[in-house]
Amino acid sequence: MSNSNNDSELAAAQARTLQDTYVQAFPETQAFWLASARGQLLLPHCASCGRSHWHPRAFCPFCHADAISWQDASGRAEVYSFSIVRRADAPYVLAYARLEEGPILMTNIVDVEPAAVHTGMRLMVAFRATQQGRMAPVFRPHS
Ligand SMILES: [Zn+2]
Repeated sequence: MSNSNNDSELAAAQARTLQDTYVQAFPETQAFWLASARGQLLLPHCASCGRSHWHPRAFCPFCHADAISWQDASGRAEVYSFSIVRRADAPYVLAYARLEEGPILMTNIVDVEPAAVHTGMRLMVAFRATQQGRMAPVFRPHS
């Protein structure tokens, strides 16, 4: 089996990511968005205190060390808080998801009736294209 089709799709997704104005404005987040383009959730991780954080930054917010590297996240999370945005044609769920590793991300909950979302609901990461073109992590219910 050839992966050349997937390879060219991935190359196109990564090229769109590098041209995205948000990514260009925040170069410290580039590795995160490039990973999203290949369906991988990365988190900044501090080798000094062993904790992951969000957003990406040069110094650890917990211990102020600069020993930051990117680490694979499990993709597992739960709903920390949420609101249902009803002014859209199709209501959607804006939420803070608390990752298994600790950090809390602002995101969307997808593939669920908004009325069924609740605090503590277990989630798994998925990736969707933003209006600007980069792929971004969203979350769907997960048992
Ligand atoms: Zn630290």
